[in-house]
Amino acid sequence: MFKQDASLIVLIEDEPPIRRVLRLALTDHGFAFKEASSGRDGLTLVAESNPDIVILDLGLPDMDGLSVTRELRSWSNVPIIVLSARGKEQDKIEVLDAGADDYLTKPFGIAELMARIRVAQRHVSGINSTTTAVFSFGEICVDQSKREVKVAGETVHLTPNEYKLLCILIKHTGKVITHTVLLREVWGAAYQNETHYLRVYMAQLRRKLERDPAHPKHLITEPGVGYRLQMA
Ligand code: CA
Repeated sequence: MFKQDASLIVLIEDEPPIRRVLRLALTDHGFAFKEASSGRDGLTLVAESNPDIVILDLGLPDMDGLSVTRELRSWSNVPIIVLSARGKEQDKIEVLDAGADDYLTKPFGIAELMARIRVAQRHVSGINSTTTAVFSFGEICVDQSKREVKVAGETVHLTPNEYKLLCILIKHTGKVITHTVLLREVWGAAYQNETHYLRVYMAQLRRKLERDPAHPKHLITEPGVGYRLQMA
């Protein structure tokens, strides 16, 4: 049987080769692993086994991943990482807005999947959501108690909306945040389609924070979907 302390991952995916690869890789990395090949079976499995993370394919035979996500979110906060086919940006956005935590585009590498799983686990344990007011990444240091931002020790002035945008990205470090969510949180629900606001404000933030704003290391664009704050 599984070790008591192994995190349990449930995979909901109809393609046997992908299930096999992930089963091998995840058990090899010390995770407990269960799988389902349809949305309905997957929901039952999640309800029965109470996993730490769910990996969900968006294209399932009986119901789409969006419906699975909505149903899951009506009774569970388990982190959901979705797997999607290339070019299905709208699907990704919808499922992220419905409460999925992150996504990977097929084909993806195991290293990439592990990085996403680590981010999901970090958010569950709440390391960067609570206790620490001071958050550092690269040369950038944000002290939320003093509302102070420094780059390489030099204080940088951010406008209120730039600062708000940065704090939302920090709160969700490593995870992709959709345009809609960012616009809603910073400017309000009436502005959730004003994607150009984000382009302008992200460009300003990069100019102020990134060493090479044209090739950002931290404020990363997820094309067609949103933005992600990367620590390393
Ligand atoms: Ca599929």
